[in-house]
Amino acid sequence: MTELELQRHMERVSLQFFQKRFQHQARFNQRLRTTGGRYLLQSHDIEMNPRYLENFGLDYFIGIMKHELCHYHLHLEGKGYQHRDADFRALLAKVDAPRFCQAIPTTQKMHRYTCLSCQTEFLRKRRFDVKKYRCGRCNGRLAYKNEELVNR
Ligand SMILES: [Zn+2]
Ligand SMILES: [Zn+2]
Repeated sequence: MTELELQRHMERVSLQFFQKRFQHQARFNQRLRTTGGRYLLQSHDIEMNPRYLENFGLDYFIGIMKHELCHYHLHLEGKGYQHRDADFRALLAKVDAPRFCQAIPTTQKMHRYTCLSCQTEFLRKRRFDVKKYRCGRCNGRLAYKNEELVNR
C-alpha cells in the first residue's frame, strides 16, 4: 500500500463509518513500534504502522484506522476524545473499532558473539571485527557465533 492509497483508505473509512470527511493527512510511520497508529493532536494527521498491515492484514488495519478516526473526529468536535472518555467509548462501540491496538513483537537481526575465555555470550546489532575488540568482562578474545532474529 502506498501513502496515497493509505490516504484514500482513510478518507473512505471515514465516510463509510462516520459519515464525515477526513480532511487531514494519513501517512505511514516506520518508527511506531508497539502501536498500530496514532492521532496527532496538533496537526490532526494520523500515522499508521505499516507492520500492522503486514502482520495482521487489511481488515485488522482498517480496525486501527477506525480507532484513530474516533480520536480524530471527537477531538475536532470538541468532545471527549481520550480512551477513558464516555464519548470515545461510545463511538468505538458504534463503529465497531478495537479498544486497543495489539502490540506486536518486532523482529530484528542480531549478531551473537562469544568470549573464548569466560564464555560470555552477547548480541549486537552491528557486525564488528573480532580482532579489534575484546571481552568487556575479562578482556579475553572474542569469536563470532551466528546471526539470529530476535523479538524485541
Ligand atoms: Zn487510541
Ligand atoms: Zn570474557
